[in-house]
Amino acid sequence: MRKFALHEKGGIIQELDATLCTVRIRIPAGIITPKQMSGIGKIAEKFSAGVHLTTRQTAELFHVKPEDLEKVVKALEKNGTPLGAEKSEIVNVTACPGTDRCKYAQFDSIALALALDKKHFGRDMPIKARIAISACPNSCMSEKLNEIGITGVVRPYRIPGTCTGCGTCTHYCREDAIAIKNGVIKLDEDACVHCGMCIHSCPFHIIKSDPPAYHITVGGKRGRHPKIGKHFVTVRSPETVDLCIEKIVQWIYRRAWGDLLLPDQLDDIGFDAFRTDVINSLPPEEIVSG
Ligand code: SF4
Ligand code: SF4
Ligand code: SF4
Repeated sequence: MRKFALHEKGGIIQELDATLCTVRIRIPAGIITPKQMSGIGKIAEKFSAGVHLTTRQTAELFHVKPEDLEKVVKALEKNGTPLGAEKSEIVNVTACPGTDRCKYAQFDSIALALALDKKHFGRDMPIKARIAISACPNSCMSEKLNEIGITGVVRPYRIPGTCTGCGTCTHYCREDAIAIKNGVIKLDEDACVHCGMCIHSCPFHIIKSDPPAYHITVGGKRGRHPKIGKHFVTVRSPETVDLCIEKIVQWIYRRAWGDLLLPDQLDDIGFDAFRTDVINSLPPEEIVSG
């Protein structure tokens, strides 16, 4: 994190009443222990007017007096819930519950969020950069509306065998991506979102899948003119995700300008050429689609 004066750090936000501050906390994936939650409550009671739960899975103490900032920051650090980030930097990494709790999940999104947060949180950037992770295409974290989004996907395919044309699998597909033609199923690759819901539905085990993969998007945003991030690459392992995110972060750091959001300058800073370079540098066996 930057070594600027306390009041200039990303997690400290001047309020409408300029004599007061809001203090944002760093809570990767929105996960804290009950003890930490109680600790935040005690700190809030002593130094703030209340706690605001944010859209990015963190919490903010509001109406904090500037003269109390140092004490608040120290208390938050001691509580294991340190100062967050808000300015031109990598902010809190968000994630859905993933395989820890959700039956639709394709991977452990919380573990991935904690690893990415550990590596990237607070890195100085020319723009604000957000990373969000959903462990399946239901996209509960709206990850494609972030500068960097990661989605868990799984590609179904039909193996040779006796498809009875019973139609059970078609009832599980919400995308109408499975049709029965001449008594057997036909998968529509364009319509399939790779959610995997059909895979375990077949009583005859005709539908199988590749192992889950990580679909990475770049350049999404919420706000006034929302944009869906562009597909960067889909890869097989968390190690390759880590490598790609490092390259994307370095590219944003080197190429992005401070006066525009990333999605509004993707073409100007050579997104397509950068994407091609990265894909060419990856081991081919790691790439599911590029
Ligand atoms: S995105 Fe998918 S895996 Fe994550 S919580 Fe939503 S439904 Fe579950
Ligand atoms: S993976 Fe999902 S979208 Fe694709 S065919 Fe199966 S149920 Fe339909
Ligand atoms: S793939 Fe399985 S569930 Fe789907 S129509 Fe064929 S036999 Fe029925």
